[in-house]
Amino acid sequence: MAQFDKIALIGIGLIGSSIARVVRERSIAKTIAISSRSEETLDAARKLDLGDEYNIDPAEIVADADLVILCVPVGVVGQVTEAIADKLKPGAIISEVGSVKVSVIKQMRPHIPDGVHFIPAHPVAGTEKSGPQHGFSTLFDNRWCILTPEPDTDPAAVQMLTKFWQACGSNIEIMDAAHHDKVLAITSHLPQLIAYNIVGTADDLEAVTNSEVIKYSAGGFRDSTRLAASDPTMWRDVCLHNKDAILEMLARFSEDLSAMQRAVRWADGDALFEMFTRTRKIRRKIIDAGQEIDVPNFGRDD
Ligand code: NAP
Repeated sequence: MAQFDKIALIGIGLIGSSIARVVRERSIAKTIAISSRSEETLDAARKLDLGDEYNIDPAEIVADADLVILCVPVGVVGQVTEAIADKLKPGAIISEVGSVKVSVIKQMRPHIPDGVHFIPAHPVAGTEKSGPQHGFSTLFDNRWCILTPEPDTDPAAVQMLTKFWQACGSNIEIMDAAHHDKVLAITSHLPQLIAYNIVGTADDLEAVTNSEVIKYSAGGFRDSTRLAASDPTMWRDVCLHNKDAILEMLARFSEDLSAMQRAVRWADGDALFEMFTRTRKIRRKIIDAGQEIDVPNFGRDD
């Protein structure tokens, strides 16, 4: 039996369209209503048959929705919430999927009407692709979805959203928003910045970019290029909206990088070996936790 009569998705890119697909495939809601900023994306969603209702105006699709999920960049959640606030149904749940939480709560909270349950959520799942054509229904299977409800949120509403994400395939963790932002700064935002930096540095070495960097990219470089191909808008917004946690992790990273630089300079093989041995174990733990497959070279043939 469907858990919701109507779910409204505002933003229908990689994450929104993956939610639409899994909701339809597993009959989690009876009706899926979709809005996007541009006619072009809305049209793409229509052609992919992702929903039952489509409207360029997000306020038009939320009126009778039991669950509203914002799937837009974290820099615009405040203005989108403001645009739909008057139309939200009393008793409805409004959620979002942003990669940052403290700033999202700060932007959205002032616009949430009384009687509407606001529960931020972050499905820790994704790819470097964007747009509705790249979503897929199994994106959230066995991935974590972190909910960061405020302390006074109705537990029954939190339970409803928990059940929703479980039906989408996710495992649920409940966390304080500030803690979420620190954890994600080290596990997601910092690796992303490092990838941008490596690829940027290689690109600056123009003489080699057109030849050796591409030719020998299987040496590790191309794994960074996957991350560095991610959506610039999304990652600009993440950096601007998780500034403090990212700066804290960058400072620690820079210190550790300096220590490594020193070990290389002084040919301190023991320090390097100890470091590389310690880090190797982390990958084993990730595989054991079911968050990566145990095949060489990310499962690639070459
Ligand atoms: P996406 O594929 O680029 O889709 C973004 C959607 O937001 C599109 O429907 C787009 O509309 C709409 N949008 C963009 N700018 C807007 C604006 N200024 N006002 C209103 N709507 C706007 O993005 P995504 O990868 O699905 O990411 C969406 C959210 O999920 C982000 O907050 C991100 O932090 C979070 N997230 C992403 C991942 C990931 O790996 N991608 C993982 C977890 C969470 P138009 O196309 O019509 O312009």
